Amino acid sequence: MGVARIKHPSHSHHYLLLKYPQEPYWCNGCIGLGFGPCYECEHEDCSFYLHEECANAAPSTSHPFSKCSLKFHYNAPQEDERYCDACGEDVLGFVYQCSHKHPHDYHPRCLKLPLTVTAGDGLILQLKKKLPSKCLRCGSRKTSNRIQGWCYVSSPDRYCYHIACVKDMILEKWKKDYFTQDGNVNEANSLALQTFSPGREIALPGGRSSSKATQIWRKATTVIMVIISALFGEPSALISVLVQYWLSS
Ligand SMILES: [Zn+2]
Ligand SMILES: [Zn+2]
Ligand SMILES: [Zn+2]
Ligand SMILES: [Zn+2]
Ligand SMILES: [Zn+2]
Repeated sequence: MGVARIKHPSHSHHYLLLKYPQEPYWCNGCIGLGFGPCYECEHEDCSFYLHEECANAAPSTSHPFSKCSLKFHYNAPQEDERYCDACGEDVLGFVYQCSHKHPHDYHPRCLKLPLTVTAGDGLILQLKKKLPSKCLRCGSRKTSNRIQGWCYVSSPDRYCYHIACVKDMILEKWKKDYFTQDGNVNEANSLALQTFSPGREIALPGGRSSSKATQIWRKATTVIMVIISALFGEPSALISVLVQYWLSS
């Protein structure tokens, strides 16, 4: 865990404090959604947040999935639209790039995704650069913006989901219900978080008998929830969703 109070070049006139927000926020560094620990400006009026990974991004880094050395930029030096090669989301701010002519791009947070996630009941998910099978959400090996994209695969039964597709499920839901047009938290809908039910969003491989299908559906839901906690930290609201979900099914 990082230092409790820092100064950061992207908001150099105020101190930033390490916090554990109870609500989601938009990171002012990578312009991505955040739930976990973050640095927030000590002047609350600023509404300035940085993911912990964005605040502590080193000038250069590497990743087991890439042979290249990756360099940190506050903004991508290129003019064109860019996508993160891990999660498929737009690159709108903080980014790591390699030095190739056509560089790869990665959000600081995406480079910190756990390579292996173990859930309580012995379920193991592994982060993979290439999909071993089609993504169960989009039915494809490529994401909607034509990027290969990283995925999590469960073992031994190989449920496979793009990081991009799980992020989309969350963003679609919360952009609609949780944030107002100008990006502020919509107070009236602040419980939207608690009513998210992944069950309805999940497509399953077809042609199974019904009890088998229920089993698969439960497993798929668990896999998705574990991926969500890997992507966004472990927000207590999500854990309570999971508990409610199990109690009601
Ligand atoms: Zn960020
Ligand atoms: Zn400030
Ligand atoms: Zn990313
Ligand atoms: Zn490269
Ligand atoms: Zn997908």
